Amino acid sequence: MTNRTTATDRNAALVQQMTEQMATLARTLSAWVQAEPRPLQEREAQVVRVLHDLGSTLLTALLPLAAPVRPEPDLPCGCGQIARYVRVRPATVTTVLGRVTLNRAIYHCHCCGAYAAPLDQQLQIAAGGLSLGLQELLALLGATQDSFAQAAAVVERLCLVQICPNSVRAATEDIGAVLTDHERAVVTTAQTDGSSPPAAVAAPPRVYLSMDGVVTHVHDAGWKEIKVGCVYTTRTRIPRQRPETLVIQAEQQSYLAALTDAETFGWRLWAEACRRGVTDQTDLVVIGDGAHWIWNLAAEHFPQATQIVDWYHASQYVWRAASTIFGETSDLRVPWARQHLDNLWDGRVAEVLAALEPYRPKGEGVTDALSYFTTHQARMDYPSYRARGLQVGSGTVESACKQLVSARLKLAGMIWNVPEAEAVAVVRAWLKSGRWDEAMRLRPPPQRTYQRQTVAADATVAVA
Ligand SMILES: [Zn+2]
Repeated sequence: MTNRTTATDRNAALVQQMTEQMATLARTLSAWVQAEPRPLQEREAQVVRVLHDLGSTLLTALLPLAAPVRPEPDLPCGCGQIARYVRVRPATVTTVLGRVTLNRAIYHCHCCGAYAAPLDQQLQIAAGGLSLGLQELLALLGATQDSFAQAAAVVERLCLVQICPNSVRAATEDIGAVLTDHERAVVTTAQTDGSSPPAAVAAPPRVYLSMDGVVTHVHDAGWKEIKVGCVYTTRTRIPRQRPETLVIQAEQQSYLAALTDAETFGWRLWAEACRRGVTDQTDLVVIGDGAHWIWNLAAEHFPQATQIVDWYHASQYVWRAASTIFGETSDLRVPWARQHLDNLWDGRVAEVLAALEPYRPKGEGVTDALSYFTTHQARMDYPSYRARGLQVGSGTVESACKQLVSARLKLAGMIWNVPEAEAVAVVRAWLKSGRWDEAMRLRPPPQRTYQRQTVAADATVAVA
């Protein structure tokens, strides 16, 4: 531990160093401006550069302040034995203020062979790595900019720190892996205990769950589906222009996005519903298109839910059947479709089926509609949904597919590796769910990769 005199001395030395440096900077900048009048933009850029360097110096000076001036000769090791002081070694860490280097004491335990740098643990750094602050920024931009290269360019512009696109990719993948591991662990714990994951909030009386999938191009695997889930509540309002109608808007959305099979996805969505406070007593509504996996998961995990097939998807089947029966240009097409959309809207699915049946030989447009309306008849009770004030469209999750997946993972020419695509999708889901701070708190301390390097270097010396 540092004694009081040493701490005071160090404080005084730091204040003096920074004061002198600030005075020098002010003098240099003042002379620079006086030598030639410069526009604001130039002065602004120069001050930002100078403050960045000053910040880097200050941060470097702050790093060793809480460490002993003279290393202790030995420390307790995690194995229960004693680790001996070996030497001081420098370590460099890249931060939002640029690269900073610090000298820290290294200890070695002869009993278990471990090397340790107590200052690294105190600072939560790994030699040669990134600070947690910079890692956060890289992951945030890696998931939200159009590419990792563009994210690196933005970091350089904002922080004056040069980062390669691969570091942005790695930071995004690391946080994505932490979040995916967390989601997996929540499910595993619940499955092991036979319990429900804890609720973060009390659910309102009615909660919606909506699921959909969007494909993305993956190396060596072609097009793979990223499944997206949305848990939300709604707010009903009466528009001033058309007071006879109700507008039902989604709010408090939280999202799940995973490049995984339906079974795994179902458990994670169930865990998210539990986190949102959903219980057996919640008035739960599941909305989706006709994909079988959606309704299988709804039956397995949310048996109490009201199941609703998205109105827009259902109506598309009517239009397609009308085109198949009468042809795109026929005058009969639109009136027929309108009549059966009205039937569908008023819950007369049996009449729609009866009207389609004679046209079965016309082709797929009709047989697909027959199959769809037969399979989902019980999910198309639109009058009763309207009477309960329920939303009947899956626009919320479709918009989530676009925003979480398509807007980043489906840009022109993009082909992804599975871990990258998974990471970007999950990071975007947490971000859009307003869970970024929570995500940051889940990060473990940086991996102590320096230990392996130290061990390797020292082992070489020892062998030599
Ligand atoms: Zn040990």
